[in-house]
This record gives sequence, structure tokens and C-alpha cells, in this order.
Amino acid sequence: MSTGTRVLVLNAGSSSVKYQLIEMLDGSRLAAGLVERIGEPNGRLVHTPRGGPRRETLQTFPDHGAALKSVAEELAADGVGLDSPELAAIGHRVVHGGLRFTAPTLVDDEVLAEIRRLVPVAPLHNPANITGIEVARALRPDLPQIAVFDTAFHATMPEYAARYAIDRAVADEHRVRRYGFHGTSHQYVSRATAALLGRDPAELNVIVLHLGNGASASAVAGGVCVDTSMGLTPLEGLVMGTRSGDVDPGVVFHLHRVGGLTIDQIDDLLNRRSGLLGLCGDNDMREIMRRSEEGDAAARLAFDTYVHRLRKYIGGYYAVLGRVDAIAFTAGVGENAAPVRAAATAGLDQLGISVDPELNAVRSGEARVISPEYSRVTVAVVPTDEELEIAQQAFALVHAAG
Ligand code: ADP
Repeated sequence: MSTGTRVLVLNAGSSSVKYQLIEMLDGSRLAAGLVERIGEPNGRLVHTPRGGPRRETLQTFPDHGAALKSVAEELAADGVGLDSPELAAIGHRVVHGGLRFTAPTLVDDEVLAEIRRLVPVAPLHNPANITGIEVARALRPDLPQIAVFDTAFHATMPEYAARYAIDRAVADEHRVRRYGFHGTSHQYVSRATAALLGRDPAELNVIVLHLGNGASASAVAGGVCVDTSMGLTPLEGLVMGTRSGDVDPGVVFHLHRVGGLTIDQIDDLLNRRSGLLGLCGDNDMREIMRRSEEGDAAARLAFDTYVHRLRKYIGGYYAVLGRVDAIAFTAGVGENAAPVRAAATAGLDQLGISVDPELNAVRSGEARVISPEYSRVTVAVVPTDEELEIAQQAFALVHAAG
């Protein structure tokens, strides 16, 4: 068994790779970085070693293999190369684990083939994740490669929450059901919320609101996910940066039959030209709040639509859980946008949900409570750390296997 104490976390997208090298003894980052625009002429690698200034490389990275090779060179230049015996494993973010992968999994040929079989349900994500695994395996064939799935935390959803009310045979044939995404973040944040409150996760009911560019909510009962807002794909649920979230499926038929749009055009519309962007032309909440302050009606409507949907999920998950101990806001918008947190929780005192305006206005990178002492439900801002969660899960698996 490896005696190494470091884990490299890779998050491979279609044209990018994000990475962090984490020292598991203290959770510190030895290096972090990003390669973007892979396959395009103007590629860019940004590498930040611990304590050092960040280094930028502008060049073409023809494919993920070339990108990862450059990452390996950057790490080697810092004395923390991939050939180091300190490296215990490489942890890979894999978006879709389907029904089979409900826990972190050591990758072998058979596992890789199964992840590939899931491409039809995650055509935008799994192919890039597979490429990341293949490239990392080629660089270090002897090292455990561990896949950590975005869907895994949601596998505990009861059947009635995971099912769509459509013909069961058709659903089963095409593996159509609600899988949920951002699971690594929901898992990390629900546990970190319990830690913040000094409570055992097993006795805490939490609503986690992951509000990034993609956004999702989950209901977590005693550490176990019982419902989440994303479904077969990350399109369902909350209003997001560029995704619509919930729409009547009839909208799709209407746009096709009456509007004359093709299925691909509707796919593009709902995934990339909707949400905040579709409503007001901006998908950055900072910009939307600024415009809204200046009286821009479209930005105001986008903000209000976003918040209205969020409130519906808070109320829905309150009913699903029966008893709510905490609501945790996380990711770019959740961690930074005090006005969103205020609006999403306004007027819910009857439900035991209150937010203290002064605590809510505090800017900090730390997990913190923003509800007043008397609030029955603790409202908190809890920064997510998906990379650390992936590293911890991968590291635990390596040790369990050893
Ligand atoms: P991703 O889903 O890409 O990981 P993040 O969790 O980083 O996204 O969230 C990105 C979003 O967070 C941005 O699009 C922006 O809307 C929002 N955001 C970031 N910083 C702030 C801020 N200071 N105030 C409001 N919103 C912010």
C-alpha cells in the first residue's frame, strides 16, 4: 500500500482541466491550477504553488494529454511532481455515476467501460471525465485512480423522490430518473454545517443551497440525502446562470411544434441561453445586483425570479424534512450574495427561519451563522470545498483497500 499522503484531484471538463494537489495530513493545498481552452489556439495554464506567485503559460494545448503533461511539469518544477512517492492517489470528479456508482470507486478497465456506458445520460460531462482518467492513468499507471461521482450522494433518495411520474417501463428502459448532481458539494456542506453547529450530522436535518453558476438544492436528513433539485440532467430545479431550471415539459413541444425550433436548438436555449442570462442578458449575480440597484427592470425581474424559485424549494424541502435544523448557503452566489440570502429567507419567521441583517452583511471566507440566537432554524453560510471532499474520499478508499 502507498505510504503517500498527497492526493491530486482532477476535474476535467470538455475544454478545461482544474486541479489541486492536496496534502492530506492537514488538508493544505500544495498547488492548484487550471488549464483552459484545450484544443483551441489560445490555451492558458494558470498554476499557483503554495506560497508562491502564480505562473501563467499561454500556448496551444492540442488535447487533454498535452494539458496534463504541462501540469505535471509545473508540479515537478515545484518539487511535487507526479513521480513523487508522496502521491497516494489521483481523485477524479466524474459527473454521472448512474445507478451503479454510489460510492468512490477504484478505476479499472471494467469501471471505465461502465462510466463510458453512462455517456448517453451525461453526454456533456462524462466523456471529458473519462479522458481525464485515461490521461492520468497513462502518466501514472501504477497509482490508484479513484472516481468520485457527482450523483453518488443522492443515491439514497427514496424511490418516490427519484422517480418521474411517467410510464415505468419507458423510464427504466432509458434509465430516466432523477439522479441529482453537485453531490460532493452537498455532502461536504451538510457535514461542515453540522461541524459548525457542533452537532452530529446523524441528528441534523439540513437544507443545502448550492448556488454557483449551476445551482441546486438538497434536503439532507441525518446526513442522508432525501431529495435534490437536479434530475436526469443538471437542467432541472433552480434558476441558474444560463439554465432555466424547472419548466413545463410542454414548453419543449410548443417550441418545437409551434416555434419551429429543433431539439438541439431547444437544448441550447434551455441549457445555455436561459436562466439569469436569458432573463436579463447577464449571468453574473454581481452584475445583476448592480443593475438592479440602478433600477434596471430586467435585472430586477431576473433577481426576483431566481429568488422566488429558491423560496419554493426551501418551502418544499421544509415539508419533505418535517423538521429543519439548518439552512446552508454555499458556492459563488450563496457564499457572497447577501441580498440573495436575505430575499430567500425574508418573511419566513413563522417557519422559524430568521436572518440577522448585520451577520448576513459580514464578508468572510469562513463558515458562519447568519441567523439570530432566537431563530429556530440556524441559517449559515458554509463555503464548499469539492476538491477536499474528493481528496478525502479517494484517500479513505486507498487506505481501506490497503
Ligand atoms: P461554478 O458553478 O462555476 O463553480 P461558482 O460557485 O464559482 O460557480 O459561482 C460563480 C457565480 O458566483 C458567478 O457567476 C457569480 O454570479 C457569483 N458570484 C461570485 N462572487 C460573487 C459576489 N461577490 N457577489 C455575488 N455573486 C457572486
